[in-house]
Amino acid sequence: MPPGALFSSDVGRQTLQNIVKTLIPQWRDGLRTFQLDSIPLILDNQDIFCITATGEGKSALFAIPILVHEEIFKNKISYPEFLAPIRQEPVGIVVTPTKGLSNNIVKELQDQFRITAFAYTRENIAEKARAGLNVDKEIADCQYQIICVDPEHLREPSWIKISDSPKFRKNVIFCCAEEAHVIDEWGLDFRPHFRHIGSFFRGRLPSTKSIFAITATMQPGSPFESVCLSLGFSGPKFHLLRYSNECPNVEISVKLLTTAIGGREFPQLLPYLNQCRKTIIHVRTIELGYRVFLYIFRNAPQTYNRHYRIRMYSALAPDQYNKRTVELLLNDGRCQIVIATKAFSLGIHAKTLQDSISIGTPDTQCELDQSGGRVGRDRNTNARRIVFVTSKEMGEAHKRTRNIATKTRCMDLAKSQFLTEKICRVSRLNKIYANPPIETSFLDCIQAKRRLPCDVCRTRYDLLDTSILTFPPSPHLSKLPPFKIHSDMSQSNKKRGARADKPTKKEADGIRKGLAIYEREVYLEERLRLPHRNIPHSFYFPPEITDLISEEILKIDSIESLTDRLKPIDRIFKSTQAEKLFAYMSTLRLDIEKSRNSKSKYKQVPIISKSSSDAGMYE
Ligand SMILES: [Zn+2]
Repeated sequence: MPPGALFSSDVGRQTLQNIVKTLIPQWRDGLRTFQLDSIPLILDNQDIFCITATGEGKSALFAIPILVHEEIFKNKISYPEFLAPIRQEPVGIVVTPTKGLSNNIVKELQDQFRITAFAYTRENIAEKARAGLNVDKEIADCQYQIICVDPEHLREPSWIKISDSPKFRKNVIFCCAEEAHVIDEWGLDFRPHFRHIGSFFRGRLPSTKSIFAITATMQPGSPFESVCLSLGFSGPKFHLLRYSNECPNVEISVKLLTTAIGGREFPQLLPYLNQCRKTIIHVRTIELGYRVFLYIFRNAPQTYNRHYRIRMYSALAPDQYNKRTVELLLNDGRCQIVIATKAFSLGIHAKTLQDSISIGTPDTQCELDQSGGRVGRDRNTNARRIVFVTSKEMGEAHKRTRNIATKTRCMDLAKSQFLTEKICRVSRLNKIYANPPIETSFLDCIQAKRRLPCDVCRTRYDLLDTSILTFPPSPHLSKLPPFKIHSDMSQSNKKRGARADKPTKKEADGIRKGLAIYEREVYLEERLRLPHRNIPHSFYFPPEITDLISEEILKIDSIESLTDRLKPIDRIFKSTQAEKLFAYMSTLRLDIEKSRNSKSKYKQVPIISKSSSDAGMYE
């Protein structure tokens, strides 16, 4: 009897395409290139490391092998004989870093492929127990086709028992490490069990299966080698499939954060949020997340149910609340903004997200790019990644690229290169991740004809700003009322009497200095919009506006009152710059407020305890 065909042979690939076309007719073009390269290897029980952009359809790598085994087992005579044994009740294990991600994958497998899957999380296990069911026994009996589990649970006696079950051992066809970059990042310190995924896969289960890893962000060199070592990837059985992780529909910008990251005002967010696009805001810590939440919450129109519009997504929020947030992002036109802490945001898979805003940066470029990967999964829409970097971080990045030793721990080199990039941020990322094809990926956005050039290329090439056309509001969100900046100033002013709303001479000087910086920014930005190079520099921000603002800044507490006051002054950019000017002014106001408060030792209300109860965070 002939030994049977390989799935990676021509016959095998053809069989695979035919099965996919029959079982998933909605995929009119069949499998994508990276799926057609990797799935046959999984079916041939090979080991693979698949690196590709988010949103490319990685869940097919879990689902299709299961469907193929079932189909061939049921209709053996219709298909050629294959070398790999075909299982009657095929099972796959997917190890994921967060329960949010597990729940997401399970839902996607059920909705898209009708695959019975189970997310092995504490909550789901408890729910089974309450229903009087023994989920370990169900798994060992192959009642689930795919089980998502975290590495900590794999070390527990339950999984020793499951992996001892002869039926389970016979039917397991693959083990996958999802978001495999975390094995290197997290395995070293805060979740050491990530280092043991490989030994479980290899030590506890038979060798007739595929082990594969997937991620969007895996730098070549030592991070990659470390993950390979941990998963036992080596020798002829191992295949590396590296595709580009560039997202052509995502525009990248890096901007300086003009307010203190430790403060409670983030006015730079509002112009973006007022474009009414579904937005994820990434923060390093839950505490910063609360401050951002409260700032946005305070400035949201009161007429509107703010708890739908703005949501927190963090490890401290109740599980049900987090689940609901993802549902609302997907299906509810009232839900616009989710604030997520780093790492935890890996759990958010929502195709509707369009803007990703980072306030400050995480430790590594890889984490920063993971945050950015939350948006633009729908390749037909244009998405944005905006990174607000603090001046301290920027300073450290410059020092790092110039190889100057700093007191703090050295910044990730890739991150420092990305932040200080002078030619093209996309090509920098392509170099960091060795994204093929290097003939075009290393070119700048214009040379490479990218759909959405990065901020550095836009400035270098004097490109028109078409952001209003390029980044329209999310469908159904356009009717949301805009955010307004309410200042605490008006209240504290009343306490201080009439003179309080007039800046002192010293304060007015400070405002003028600040506005001079803003004027320069307006000039740089506006001259990109239209071919108006013959316009005198002073027209961009007439001195009358500086005079007016330095006098009246403390009386102007809404964008409407600013527009009103500016009416008599001729200015070309009134409409395009109104929001930005107002946001900028509020940072100047904040400086005055802070300095006055520190002088008068005006007692501030504790930020979190009072205001968060006002906001009723998890209503
Ligand atoms: Zn570029």
